[in-house]
Amino acid sequence: MEYIVLDLEWNQCPKGKEFGERQLPFEIIEIGAVKLNEKLNIVSSFNRYIKPQVYTELHSIVKDIIKVDVKKIENGESFVSVIRKFLEWCGEDYIFCTWGQTDLYELQRNMKYFGVEIPFETPLIYYDIQKFYSILKEDGKKRSTLESVVEELNIPKKSDFHNALSDAHYTALVCKSIDFYSVKNRFSIDYYHVPGARSEEIYARYDTYEKYISKGYDTRECLTKDRVIFTGKCYICGRTMKKKTGWFLNGNHGYYYLGCCEEHGYIKGRMRIKQSDDGRYFAVRILKATDEAGAQKMLIRQADIIRKRREKRKED
Ligand SMILES: [Zn+2]
Repeated sequence: MEYIVLDLEWNQCPKGKEFGERQLPFEIIEIGAVKLNEKLNIVSSFNRYIKPQVYTELHSIVKDIIKVDVKKIENGESFVSVIRKFLEWCGEDYIFCTWGQTDLYELQRNMKYFGVEIPFETPLIYYDIQKFYSILKEDGKKRSTLESVVEELNIPKKSDFHNALSDAHYTALVCKSIDFYSVKNRFSIDYYHVPGARSEEIYARYDTYEKYISKGYDTRECLTKDRVIFTGKCYICGRTMKKKTGWFLNGNHGYYYLGCCEEHGYIKGRMRIKQSDDGRYFAVRILKATDEAGAQKMLIRQADIIRKRREKRKED
Protein backbone atom coordinates (compact mmCIF):
# COMPACT_ATOMS: atom_id res chain seq x y z
CA MET A 1 0.00 0.00 0.00
CA GLU A 2 1.29 3.43 -0.97
CA TYR A 3 0.03 6.89 -0.04
CA ILE A 4 -0.64 9.50 -2.69
CA VAL A 5 -0.44 12.97 -1.15
CA LEU A 6 -2.37 15.18 -3.53
CA ASP A 7 -2.71 18.93 -3.89
CA LEU A 8 -4.48 20.96 -6.58
CA GLU A 9 -4.52 24.56 -7.65
CA TRP A 10 -7.61 25.78 -9.45
CA ASN A 11 -9.04 28.80 -11.20
CA GLN A 12 -12.57 30.19 -11.15
CA CYS A 13 -14.64 32.48 -13.36
CA PRO A 14 -12.75 35.81 -13.50
CA LYS A 15 -16.04 37.74 -13.75
CA GLY A 16 -17.38 36.19 -10.55
CA LYS A 17 -19.00 32.96 -9.43
CA GLU A 18 -22.45 33.82 -10.78
CA PHE A 19 -21.08 33.96 -14.33
CA GLY A 20 -19.34 30.61 -14.05
CA GLU A 21 -20.36 27.16 -15.24
CA ARG A 22 -22.57 25.47 -12.64
CA GLN A 23 -20.97 22.08 -13.27
CA LEU A 24 -17.45 23.46 -13.03
CA PRO A 25 -17.10 26.29 -10.52
CA PHE A 26 -13.37 25.49 -10.12
CA GLU A 27 -11.16 24.48 -13.01
CA ILE A 28 -7.95 22.68 -12.05
CA ILE A 29 -4.78 24.32 -13.38
CA GLU A 30 -2.13 22.32 -11.55
CA ILE A 31 -1.86 18.84 -10.06
CA GLY A 32 0.94 18.17 -7.62
CA ALA A 33 1.41 14.89 -5.78
CA VAL A 34 4.00 12.80 -4.01
CA LYS A 35 3.96 9.06 -3.43
CA LEU A 36 4.93 7.73 -0.02
CA ASN A 37 5.90 4.21 0.95
CA GLU A 38 4.71 2.61 4.17
CA LYS A 39 7.55 4.27 6.07
CA LEU A 40 6.07 7.58 4.83
CA ASN A 41 9.16 8.37 2.79
CA ILE A 42 8.74 10.07 -0.57
CA VAL A 43 9.45 7.65 -3.40
CA SER A 44 8.13 9.58 -6.41
CA SER A 45 6.51 12.86 -7.38
CA PHE A 46 4.09 14.12 -10.05
CA ASN A 47 3.60 17.67 -11.25
CA ARG A 48 1.75 18.99 -14.30
CA TYR A 49 0.24 22.30 -15.31
CA ILE A 50 -3.10 22.41 -17.08
CA LYS A 51 -4.07 24.99 -19.66
CA PRO A 52 -7.59 26.08 -18.70
CA GLN A 53 -10.30 25.55 -21.31
CA VAL A 54 -13.32 27.05 -19.55
CA TYR A 55 -11.95 30.04 -17.61
CA THR A 56 -9.10 30.97 -19.89
CA GLU A 57 -8.25 34.07 -17.88
CA LEU A 58 -7.04 33.76 -14.28
CA HIS A 59 -9.26 35.21 -11.55
CA SER A 60 -7.52 38.06 -9.72
CA ILE A 61 -7.65 36.17 -6.39
CA VAL A 62 -6.03 33.15 -8.01
CA LYS A 63 -3.34 35.35 -9.53
CA ASP A 64 -2.63 36.82 -6.10
CA ILE A 65 -2.59 33.55 -4.19
CA ILE A 66 -0.94 30.92 -6.28
CA LYS A 67 2.77 30.89 -6.71
CA VAL A 68 2.86 29.67 -10.25
CA ASP A 69 4.43 31.12 -13.32
CA VAL A 70 1.46 32.12 -15.54
CA LYS A 71 3.47 31.06 -18.60
CA LYS A 72 3.60 27.48 -17.29
CA ILE A 73 -0.20 27.43 -17.16
CA GLU A 74 -0.53 28.98 -20.62
CA ASN A 75 1.81 26.30 -21.94
CA GLY A 76 0.11 23.55 -19.92
CA GLU A 77 -1.44 20.35 -21.23
CA SER A 78 -5.16 19.55 -21.40
CA PHE A 79 -6.89 18.27 -18.27
CA VAL A 80 -7.72 14.95 -19.94
CA SER A 81 -4.11 14.32 -20.89
CA VAL A 82 -2.82 15.22 -17.42
CA ILE A 83 -5.38 13.17 -15.51
CA ARG A 84 -4.61 10.07 -17.61
CA LYS A 85 -0.92 10.41 -16.79
CA PHE A 86 -1.72 11.07 -13.16
CA LEU A 87 -3.90 7.97 -12.76
CA GLU A 88 -1.25 5.85 -14.41
CA TRP A 89 1.38 7.28 -12.09
CA CYS A 90 -0.84 6.52 -9.04
CA GLY A 91 -0.61 2.77 -9.72
CA GLU A 92 -2.92 0.11 -8.30
CA ASP A 93 -2.73 -0.04 -4.53
CA TYR A 94 -2.90 3.37 -2.91
CA ILE A 95 -4.90 5.65 -0.69
CA PHE A 96 -5.15 9.41 -1.10
CA CYS A 97 -3.99 11.91 1.54
CA THR A 98 -5.00 15.56 1.25
CA TRP A 99 -4.89 18.74 3.30
CA GLY A 100 -8.60 19.36 3.98
CA GLN A 101 -11.68 17.98 2.30
CA THR A 102 -11.93 19.73 -1.05
CA ASP A 103 -9.27 18.38 -3.42
CA LEU A 104 -10.73 14.95 -4.19
CA TYR A 105 -14.19 16.43 -4.64
CA GLU A 106 -12.95 19.00 -7.15
CA LEU A 107 -10.77 16.43 -8.89
CA GLN A 108 -13.82 14.22 -9.52
CA ARG A 109 -15.97 17.18 -10.53
CA ASN A 110 -13.36 18.14 -13.15
CA MET A 111 -13.15 14.52 -14.32
CA LYS A 112 -16.90 14.36 -14.82
CA TYR A 113 -16.99 17.71 -16.61
CA PHE A 114 -14.28 16.68 -19.04
CA GLY A 115 -15.79 13.23 -19.62
CA VAL A 116 -13.14 11.17 -17.84
CA GLU A 117 -14.44 7.98 -16.25
CA ILE A 118 -13.90 8.03 -12.47
CA PRO A 119 -12.07 4.81 -11.55
CA PHE A 120 -12.05 5.29 -7.76
CA GLU A 121 -13.75 2.82 -5.47
CA THR A 122 -16.91 3.94 -3.77
CA PRO A 123 -17.08 5.00 -1.07
CA LEU A 124 -13.79 6.79 -1.64
CA ILE A 125 -11.84 6.57 1.61
CA TYR A 126 -8.99 9.03 2.15
CA TYR A 127 -6.90 10.57 4.91
CA ASP A 128 -7.38 14.24 5.68
CA ILE A 129 -4.00 15.25 7.14
CA GLN A 130 -5.39 18.59 8.35
CA LYS A 131 -7.89 16.60 10.45
CA PHE A 132 -5.19 14.14 11.60
CA TYR A 133 -3.08 17.06 12.80
CA SER A 134 -6.03 18.53 14.67
CA ILE A 135 -6.84 15.22 16.38
CA LEU A 136 -3.20 14.74 17.44
CA LYS A 137 -2.12 18.29 18.29
CA GLU A 138 -5.26 20.42 18.60
CA ASP A 139 -8.83 19.85 19.74
CA GLY A 140 -9.88 17.67 16.82
CA LYS A 141 -12.21 20.34 15.48
CA LYS A 142 -9.86 23.19 14.64
CA ARG A 143 -8.50 23.35 11.09
CA SER A 144 -5.13 25.10 10.73
CA THR A 145 -3.46 26.26 7.55
CA LEU A 146 -0.70 24.10 6.12
CA GLU A 147 1.81 26.92 6.52
CA SER A 148 1.07 27.42 10.23
CA VAL A 149 1.39 23.67 10.86
CA VAL A 150 4.69 23.48 8.96
CA GLU A 151 5.97 26.30 11.20
CA GLU A 152 4.61 24.63 14.32
CA LEU A 153 6.44 21.39 13.46
CA ASN A 154 9.68 23.23 12.64
CA ILE A 155 9.73 21.86 9.11
CA PRO A 156 12.16 23.99 7.08
CA LYS A 157 10.35 26.27 4.60
CA LYS A 158 12.31 25.71 1.43
CA SER A 159 9.68 26.56 -1.17
CA ASP A 160 6.58 28.75 -1.60
CA PHE A 161 3.17 27.63 -0.37
CA HIS A 162 0.16 27.57 -2.74
CA ASN A 163 1.99 25.72 -5.42
CA ALA A 164 0.56 22.22 -5.84
CA LEU A 165 3.78 20.24 -5.73
CA SER A 166 5.31 22.10 -2.81
CA ASP A 167 2.03 21.91 -0.82
CA ALA A 168 1.87 18.15 -1.47
CA HIS A 169 5.50 17.92 -0.40
CA TYR A 170 4.86 19.86 2.82
CA THR A 171 1.78 17.75 3.56
CA ALA A 172 3.92 14.62 3.15
CA LEU A 173 6.45 16.02 5.64
CA VAL A 174 3.60 16.65 8.09
CA CYS A 175 2.56 12.96 7.69
CA LYS A 176 6.09 11.94 8.59
CA SER A 177 6.28 14.32 11.59
CA ILE A 178 3.06 13.25 13.31
CA ASP A 179 2.01 9.88 14.71
CA PHE A 180 0.22 9.09 11.43
CA TYR A 181 -0.47 5.41 12.10
CA SER A 182 -2.13 6.10 15.46
CA VAL A 183 -4.95 8.04 13.72
CA LYS A 184 -5.27 6.00 10.53
CA ASN A 185 -8.58 4.65 11.78
CA ARG A 186 -9.98 8.20 11.57
CA PHE A 187 -10.33 8.03 7.79
CA SER A 188 -12.52 10.41 5.81
CA ILE A 189 -15.14 9.56 3.23
CA ASP A 190 -15.47 11.67 0.12
CA TYR A 191 -19.01 12.94 -0.60
CA TYR A 192 -18.73 13.36 -4.36
CA HIS A 193 -20.32 10.00 -5.09
CA VAL A 194 -23.51 9.76 -3.05
CA PRO A 195 -24.89 6.23 -2.51
CA GLY A 196 -27.46 5.41 -5.20
CA ALA A 197 -29.52 2.90 -3.23
CA ARG A 198 -30.28 1.82 0.33
CA SER A 199 -27.97 -1.17 -0.03
CA GLU A 200 -25.03 1.15 -0.85
CA GLU A 201 -25.52 3.45 2.14
CA ILE A 202 -22.45 3.92 4.31
CA TYR A 203 -22.23 3.06 8.00
CA ALA A 204 -18.67 3.85 9.10
CA ARG A 205 -17.81 2.80 12.64
CA TYR A 206 -15.10 4.74 14.45
CA ASP A 207 -13.87 4.14 18.02
CA THR A 208 -16.44 6.36 19.68
CA TYR A 209 -19.07 7.07 17.06
CA GLU A 210 -20.80 6.00 13.87
CA LYS A 211 -21.05 8.02 10.69
CA TYR A 212 -23.88 7.28 8.28
CA ILE A 213 -24.20 8.62 4.74
CA SER A 214 -27.63 8.13 3.22
CA LYS A 215 -28.56 7.53 -0.37
CA GLY A 216 -29.54 10.53 -2.50
CA TYR A 217 -33.13 11.78 -2.78
CA ASP A 218 -34.64 13.91 -5.52
CA THR A 219 -36.23 16.30 -3.04
CA ARG A 220 -35.60 17.40 0.52
CA GLU A 221 -39.18 16.38 1.39
CA CYS A 222 -38.60 12.75 0.34
CA LEU A 223 -35.51 12.66 2.54
CA THR A 224 -37.18 14.12 5.63
CA LYS A 225 -39.98 11.53 5.41
CA ASP A 226 -37.52 8.63 5.62
CA ARG A 227 -37.59 6.93 9.04
CA VAL A 228 -34.25 5.19 8.42
CA ILE A 229 -32.55 8.58 8.43
CA PHE A 230 -34.31 9.81 11.56
CA THR A 231 -33.42 6.65 13.40
CA GLY A 232 -34.29 5.88 17.01
CA LYS A 233 -32.04 2.81 17.20
CA CYS A 234 -28.80 2.49 19.15
CA TYR A 235 -25.86 2.32 16.72
CA ILE A 236 -24.01 -0.14 18.95
CA CYS A 237 -26.65 -2.81 19.59
CA GLY A 238 -29.57 -1.88 17.33
CA ARG A 239 -32.10 -1.68 20.19
CA THR A 240 -34.82 0.95 20.03
CA MET A 241 -33.81 3.76 22.35
CA LYS A 242 -35.91 5.64 24.83
CA LYS A 243 -36.64 8.98 23.22
CA LYS A 244 -35.24 11.96 25.15
CA THR A 245 -35.47 14.81 22.68
CA GLY A 246 -36.01 12.90 19.45
CA TRP A 247 -34.64 14.60 16.33
CA PHE A 248 -35.04 18.38 16.36
CA LEU A 249 -33.99 21.04 13.92
CA ASN A 250 -31.55 23.72 15.02
CA GLY A 251 -31.69 26.24 12.17
CA ASN A 252 -28.70 26.10 9.85
CA HIS A 253 -26.85 23.72 12.14
CA GLY A 254 -29.02 20.81 11.08
CA TYR A 255 -30.73 18.25 13.29
CA TYR A 256 -29.82 17.11 16.79
CA TYR A 257 -30.94 14.11 18.81
CA LEU A 258 -30.79 12.59 22.23
CA GLY A 259 -31.93 9.09 23.10
CA CYS A 260 -31.10 6.49 25.72
CA CYS A 261 -30.28 2.83 25.13
CA GLU A 262 -30.98 0.55 28.09
CA GLU A 263 -27.62 -1.12 27.50
CA HIS A 264 -25.39 1.73 26.24
CA GLY A 265 -26.82 4.80 27.95
CA TYR A 266 -27.20 8.19 26.34
CA ILE A 267 -26.66 8.43 22.60
CA LYS A 268 -26.50 11.83 20.94
CA GLY A 269 -26.94 12.54 17.27
CA ARG A 270 -26.15 15.26 14.77
CA MET A 271 -27.29 15.32 11.18
CA ARG A 272 -26.82 17.63 8.23
CA ILE A 273 -28.64 17.54 4.94
CA LYS A 274 -26.37 18.20 1.99
CA GLN A 275 -26.85 18.51 -1.73
CA SER A 276 -24.74 16.46 -4.10
CA ASP A 277 -23.14 17.73 -7.28
CA ASP A 278 -25.98 16.23 -9.33
CA GLY A 279 -28.59 18.05 -7.23
CA ARG A 280 -29.78 15.17 -5.02
CA TYR A 281 -30.21 15.52 -1.26
CA PHE A 282 -28.46 13.26 1.19
CA ALA A 283 -27.95 13.08 4.95
CA VAL A 284 -24.72 12.81 6.91
CA ARG A 285 -25.49 11.61 10.43
CA ILE A 286 -23.26 11.00 13.44
CA LEU A 287 -24.37 9.01 16.46
CA LYS A 288 -22.16 9.01 19.52
CA ALA A 289 -22.41 7.67 23.05
CA THR A 290 -22.38 10.45 25.63
CA ASP A 291 -22.52 10.95 29.40
CA GLU A 292 -24.86 12.78 31.77
CA ALA A 293 -23.20 16.16 31.04
CA GLY A 294 -23.48 15.62 27.30
CA ALA A 295 -27.14 14.67 27.67
CA GLN A 296 -27.85 17.77 29.77
CA LYS A 297 -26.24 19.95 27.13
CA MET A 298 -28.52 18.50 24.47
CA LEU A 299 -31.63 18.97 26.64
CA ILE A 300 -30.67 22.61 27.25
CA ARG A 301 -30.09 23.10 23.55
CA GLN A 302 -33.58 21.86 22.76
CA ALA A 303 -35.18 23.92 25.54
CA ASP A 304 -33.42 27.04 24.19
CA ILE A 305 -34.81 26.47 20.73
CA ILE A 306 -38.34 25.97 22.04
CA ARG A 307 -38.06 29.14 24.17
CA LYS A 308 -36.75 31.20 21.23
CA ARG A 309 -39.52 29.93 18.99
CA ARG A 310 -42.12 30.89 21.58
CA GLU A 311 -40.64 34.38 21.96
CA LYS A 312 -40.63 34.85 18.23
CA ARG A 313 -44.26 33.80 18.00
CA LYS A 314 -45.16 36.42 20.64
CA GLU A 315 -43.34 39.12 18.68
CA ASP A 316 -45.22 38.18 15.51
ZN1 LIG B 1 -27.32 -0.06 22.65
